[in-house]
Amino acid sequence: MPWCESCSKLQEDSDLGSGGECPECGEVIGQRRKVPWHFQAMIGVTAIYLVYRLVQGILWISHHL
Ligand SMILES: [Zn+2]
Repeated sequence: MPWCESCSKLQEDSDLGSGGECPECGEVIGQRRKVPWHFQAMIGVTAIYLVYRLVQGILWISHHL
């Protein structure tokens, strides 16, 4: 758990803001747990798939005009 100098107390990881700020004074005191790599990988794969489908769609339309 991160220690907040300003509040002189420990803060729960889960209470920190999205940037690792103390919930009471707003001081950045820690890092929120990083997004798991497999979640990021899944987003990446999904994004690539969507772009691929988009390109396919554009090609299909351009061939059927
Ligand atoms: Zn604080």
